[in-house]
Amino acid sequence: MTEGDDLPPLREVIARYGLNAEKSLGQNFLLDLNLTGRIARCAGKLDGETVIEIGPGPGGLTRAILDAGAKRLIVIEKDTRCLPALADIAEAYPDRLEIMNEDALEIDETALFDGRAKIIANLPYNVATPLLIKWLNKRERFSSLTLMFQKEVSDRITAVPRTKAYGRLSILCQWLCETKREFDISPRAFTPPPKVTSTVVTLRPRAEPAFPADQAVLEKVVAAAFGQRRKMLRASLKPLGKPPEDMLEKAGITPTRRAEELSVEEFCALARVYAAA
Ligand code: SAM
Repeated sequence: MTEGDDLPPLREVIARYGLNAEKSLGQNFLLDLNLTGRIARCAGKLDGETVIEIGPGPGGLTRAILDAGAKRLIVIEKDTRCLPALADIAEAYPDRLEIMNEDALEIDETALFDGRAKIIANLPYNVATPLLIKWLNKRERFSSLTLMFQKEVSDRITAVPRTKAYGRLSILCQWLCETKREFDISPRAFTPPPKVTSTVVTLRPRAEPAFPADQAVLEKVVAAAFGQRRKMLRASLKPLGKPPEDMLEKAGITPTRRAEELSVEEFCALARVYAAA
């Protein structure tokens, strides 16, 4: 007998505690233990690790993270209805699970642990991107983030230049992290099924950003360029208030190119020139 073996199946947990999915909370539950185990494994070895899970809901992924060996798991769940189900899991895995009834957008997770932690989550889609941006700004405290997004957002995170999905989110994420697309999950795997396919992505924060640049300046330059993504850079960069052709020449970029053709490295070169101009 191992920890957690006594816990009832998730469908029973949902029925027992009346956890009817709330759309406003982005509740699409994963009940397939093979899938939750697969997501937890994307985060690498969990033995001895501190893990943060956002939105555990009835606790399917929570159980998988504990089964994978996490030493300490802190879960942050906004919906009070889920707390009794999570308390049952805490009892089945003594001294390993801490339950916080909080809003993930408000809480500072980094105050809850020393050193570095991993984040693993099937995110509520309505707040997924703001949460990711929040964690990127505290990236030194996270060794990895294994996150499920709607496929369209995962596509943007991992997109390469000259594709439709490539844009501000791709550049920020890839500048700060190594990004890896893991696998897709069909809507049918969820209860209730969402309208779109989901994709798991792992982001591993870099010790240093991939190329030198000031983050605020880089974000400003990238926002201007993609503000008019179909225009040539000599036109789209005009709102920055400095002569675009000069900046582009100094950065070694042909002025007739468009935002979606530039690599992260080229955007960083442009940001450095803009900061110095
Ligand atoms: N982890 C569970 C699973 O995989 O079956 C549930 C995932 S469900 C997509 C998202 C979860 O996030 C729900 O349990 C929901 O109540 C919770 N949630 C939504 N908004 C939240 C917020 N702002 N802070 C914390 N949890 C939130």
